[in-house]
Amino acid sequence: MPATIVRPSPDDLQTATDLLKSLIQVDTSNPPGNERELIELLAWQCTREGLTPTIAGPDHDRPNLVTRLSANPSHRKARPLILSCHLDTVPADPERWTHPPFSAHEEDGYIWGRGAIDMKGFAAMAFTVLRLIKRSRIPINRDIIFAAVSDEETGTDRGSDWLVNERPDLLGTDPEYVINEVGGFTVHQKGERFYPVQVAEKGICWMKLTVKGKAGHSSLPGGENAVALLADAITKISKARLPWHANKPTRRFLEGFAAPAGKFAQRMVPLLSNSIIGPLILPLAIRDPSRRASVEALLRNTATPTRLSSGPSINVIPGEASVMIDGRLAPGQKSKYLVAEVRRALGDPDRDKYQIEIVKESPAVEFSTDTTLYEHIKDVMKVRDPGCHVVPSIIPGFTDSKNYSRLGATCYGFYPLKLSEEVDFASLFHGDDERIPVDGYHWGIETLLHLLSRFLTG
Ligand SMILES: [Zn+2]
Repeated sequence: MPATIVRPSPDDLQTATDLLKSLIQVDTSNPPGNERELIELLAWQCTREGLTPTIAGPDHDRPNLVTRLSANPSHRKARPLILSCHLDTVPADPERWTHPPFSAHEEDGYIWGRGAIDMKGFAAMAFTVLRLIKRSRIPINRDIIFAAVSDEETGTDRGSDWLVNERPDLLGTDPEYVINEVGGFTVHQKGERFYPVQVAEKGICWMKLTVKGKAGHSSLPGGENAVALLADAITKISKARLPWHANKPTRRFLEGFAAPAGKFAQRMVPLLSNSIIGPLILPLAIRDPSRRASVEALLRNTATPTRLSSGPSINVIPGEASVMIDGRLAPGQKSKYLVAEVRRALGDPDRDKYQIEIVKESPAVEFSTDTTLYEHIKDVMKVRDPGCHVVPSIIPGFTDSKNYSRLGATCYGFYPLKLSEEVDFASLFHGDDERIPVDGYHWGIETLLHLLSRFLTG
């Protein structure tokens, strides 16, 4: 049967924009999150469209919403596809914003607001696509599940992690595909346009490092002050360059960007994968400092000290002090390898000076590109932006995909957005003045609708 392509009308696009603005206008900065108001707003939208919403979660104020558009049993041929978004955002300091971060102010072709990119934009986009596929009555060949989850930004515990553990039935039990962040946006490089599709993400190994010293009155300094010992440890960890771990997802990502750039760039990629030469030639291969830093993060485990804690009072030398360390694992790496690398950086191979406790861990995830959905993405992008390059990418962070992978799903970050050359996606993601171009957003809705209507009826 030939595929049926559904297209949005101008009214549909305006409705999606209005929904995005309503989502931005509810502050769901995490912590504390408080996503319930938005969950209820989306539940109301579902009901209005004749979709049955299920609200579920371990925390009354921070639940998740799941709804399903079922295929007619006579057409259903495959396992479900999930469209997933998280509704929490990172916090925003209004002092540093040009327009208030929860205003959804529209000006000069942009909608401003925390979450516009990450990822209320996709929530409104995915819901719109679901709604239009339902209204079109096209004969879809699998169920589509829309999941709007809480609590992604601080670790996914109440959101997708809980859903996967406690209510996999809501997620179709064994979904075949998940479409989620972070990918599908235009990256401009040397006159070429690239669209990364996220197919891998680094793992996490969050640690608590504790140093013990001698407690005492702080009017009598000297001795082994745990705070001073901790400061020394933090300096060592921050300055350390942990070992190079070349990996296949990063190599494919670099090959994708090098492909149209000529022989010299193509020859650089295998050299970057070499653990001795790679670190030396990286500054030559990638001149832009911020792009270089993000590629480097993919080729090493990283350990970043963040939150500190010590004694309760200014006039007491505490007996111990600790720091949380946000560790990230390159593909193929395990927490114990990173802990050993951190101990080497600290000069504590015998484990007698520092106590390191792993507080949360999850391995890197990687998904195949050898799938019909990936082929459809490539084909559709040829139509939607002729001459562009679709590149399988890896991110240094994590998304809800790490949890969905446990259900056996192939997860892609594909949130299509057409960005002009002056817009740098990375600076908008979690950045001040987060904003989304309206035209590029509408292009994205049309692209996702094109992709899914084609994929689900082809
Ligand atoms: Zn996100």
